[in-house]
Amino acid sequence: MYKITKEFRFEASHQLTHLPPEHKCSRVHGHSYRVELVLESSELNQDGFVRDYNELSPFKTFIDEKLDHRHLNDVVDAATSAENLARFLYEFARGLWPEVAAVRVSETPKTWAEYRPDERPGIRP
Ligand SMILES: [Zn+2]
Repeated sequence: MYKITKEFRFEASHQLTHLPPEHKCSRVHGHSYRVELVLESSELNQDGFVRDYNELSPFKTFIDEKLDHRHLNDVVDAATSAENLARFLYEFARGLWPEVAAVRVSETPKTWAEYRPDERPGIRP
């Protein structure tokens, strides 16, 4: 299995409104988000790539236009946790490229959340 990743960055605010008021994430705050797009394939294409990194530019465009300098609660129809954001970005990317295997989202230098569909034997998610 071959695996490639590309990192993207954006700035945004959010608020986890379902948390109790004493939880700091219940207040409006912002992050310098880092996103990793993970693509996997058992075979390489004729150029020797899983996929040319240059072909991933629509993912950057989507992040720039939909998420960068936005309030994420206005964009994502779920609690704006890093986990849900990873799934939101996975769904977009998987619709464009079949090699997309996972999306990872970091809100802070020490934390990462990842969405990767459950593997089922014989069925490519
Ligand atoms: Zn936060």
